[in-house]
Amino acid sequence: MTAAQDTGDLLVVGAGPVGAVLALALAQQGVAARVLEAQSADARGDTRTLALAHGSRLILERLGVWTRLADVTPITRIHISQRGALGVTRLAADELGVPALGYVLPYAELTAALKHALGDAGIAVEYGVAVDRVESSADAARLHTADGRTLVAPLAAVADGGRGDEAPQPKFERNYDQTAVVCDVQTELPHANRAFERFTPEGPAALLPKGDRYALVWTASHADAQRIAALPEGEFLAALYRHFGGRMGLFLGASPRKTFPLRLAWTGSEAADRVVRIGNAAQTLHPVAGQGFNIGLRDAWELASLVGDTPREALGSAAMLAAYARGRRTDVLGGLGFTDFLVRTFSNDFAPLRHARGLGLLALEAVPPLKAFVARRMMFGARG
Ligand SMILES: Cc1cc2nc3c(=O)[nH]c(=O)nc-3n(C[C@H](O)[C@H](O)[C@H](O)COP(=O)(O)OP(=O)(O)OC[C@H]3O[C@@H](n4cnc5c(N)ncnc54)[C@H](O)[C@@H]3O)c2cc1C
Repeated sequence: MTAAQDTGDLLVVGAGPVGAVLALALAQQGVAARVLEAQSADARGDTRTLALAHGSRLILERLGVWTRLADVTPITRIHISQRGALGVTRLAADELGVPALGYVLPYAELTAALKHALGDAGIAVEYGVAVDRVESSADAARLHTADGRTLVAPLAAVADGGRGDEAPQPKFERNYDQTAVVCDVQTELPHANRAFERFTPEGPAALLPKGDRYALVWTASHADAQRIAALPEGEFLAALYRHFGGRMGLFLGASPRKTFPLRLAWTGSEAADRVVRIGNAAQTLHPVAGQGFNIGLRDAWELASLVGDTPREALGSAAMLAAYARGRRTDVLGGLGFTDFLVRTFSNDFAPLRHARGLGLLALEAVPPLKAFVARRMMFGARG
């Protein structure tokens, strides 16, 4: 092992969307960051699809990343319903005075654009370097890398998606016994930029307009999801039609399906002296309301702003980290609570609740200020 190297810069673990946005936003504040990313520079991001809220677009615009994104599909209308009961709500961008309610894009597209932006900004990123261990003391954070180095800085931000072996136990956790089946699907009718969110007793399902097709997120119990994902394509498309209904005409084709288990886990930003956790490293949410990823981008943005406002000698101090945790609490816990409420209220077939939900959706449809409130929360978070 070589001697500890004092970088003087802020260290960032992970160049996923959240770590990369943090490094770019820090550069705008005049603060140098050094980023360590476990994957190699030529690794292409996986096949996830992301739904970006309008507020996230604003962040990416300010960082000069938005114009680099080619494969983005705006959502201009959202249709929300529940299977087997009354009550529909429709959200429309023009009613709310915004160009779009959200944007759909491949994860790989966003990470590639961010990678170029990091390079153009001259930000130091070491690809293919995994951080094995994060150690901290009152005066510095120390990152131990898999290639045997120790890097020292006044503050380390962990944006590793919560995948590090040393991730702390969540402060709050809920297992929904739900797994998401995700893939792209072709439909008979064009999407016209309309998204569908459909609540069923087995879990919510969403169709998001993506290029000339839809991205599907279909949640079911762990066992059912594995069975659904393994169906031959024709049977899968027929099952999807029964599950979702025929608003888009027939389902004509599906890309290979992937599954991922869903849970709520709130670890929080507080890690140790001189170390802060952001993005999925701090909270993992069910994808039903598209909140988790967008909260992660706001984590990065807010942390960079606070670092920019903090005198150099106070960077990474207990007071600074406490101020960050305090500042993020409303947005993060608001998003967690909203998401958890939706999953638990809608994922059952309890008749009184089914009717109450129908009334809720009707009320949302009939009371414009209520609708605007919900839409703003989805676009900008709890402090929107
Ligand atoms: C399988 C899956 C599917 C998802 N699908 C959707 C979806 O359909 N829609 C949606 O909106 N959201 C989805 N999400 C959530 C969304 O991907 C996350 O909210 C978002 O990616 C969080 O960004 P992040 O930068 O915090 O973490 P990540 O995107 O996970 O990035 C973490 C980065 O850290 C790197 N890293 C990890 N460990 C180390 C280490 N030890 N040292 C150095 N680098 C490290 C990783 O290589 C990666 O590049 C999904 C999440 C998962 C796990």
